[in-house]
Amino acid sequence: MGRYMGPQCRLCRAEEVKLYLKGERCNSAKCPITKRRGKPGKGPRARMKKLSDYGIQLREKQKVKRFYGMMENQFKLFFVKAERMKGITGDNLIILLERRLDNILYRMHFASSKNQARQLVSHGHIMVNSRKVNIPSYLVNEGDEIEVRESSKKMTGIKESLKEYSRSGVSPWLEVDPDRVYGKVKVIPRRNDIVDLTEVHEQLIVELYSK
Ligand code: SF4
Repeated sequence: MGRYMGPQCRLCRAEEVKLYLKGERCNSAKCPITKRRGKPGKGPRARMKKLSDYGIQLREKQKVKRFYGMMENQFKLFFVKAERMKGITGDNLIILLERRLDNILYRMHFASSKNQARQLVSHGHIMVNSRKVNIPSYLVNEGDEIEVRESSKKMTGIKESLKEYSRSGVSPWLEVDPDRVYGKVKVIPRRNDIVDLTEVHEQLIVELYSK
């Protein structure tokens, strides 16, 4: 199945949670979740349908998959990698997803949404440790230095996105120099540092894939 091209707010409404798919615009009061609009389509009876255990696990996976803008196959590969690591598989999964280069660019405010971040990477605008990287799922490591290529630093989209840095700063595990359009991964975050996924229960995803 291809990438979903429909209205992004519809996905959040289906999961009844903010997935921040429009990036910084999601902080606006116009967000349908903030306005408490219900699930899209269907009548009230269908919306109230009780989910099975499987349905609950599936919905939790969909939330996380959509939050990071991933396709099923790639998401499953991340899960397999998380399972092979030491520690708690659910925590490993979220931390691995958070280390994706496209996500890091969004967190650093070099892009105003994860879609835009993915494009920046795949169009060759991004350097990691002074080398061009054009793979959005590239996993950053502690100490990695991330920079927009010199010729791309004046791109309007990047300059616009960086305005958010002065408004909301950056996660404590990252550092950003907006003038140089440069950032550094100070440390790899722990699960509890990923505050916009506080309400996600990743153990349900582990249960789903363990069937
Ligand atoms: Fe739309 Fe709100 Fe979801 Fe952003 S968080 S995509 S504004 S529903």
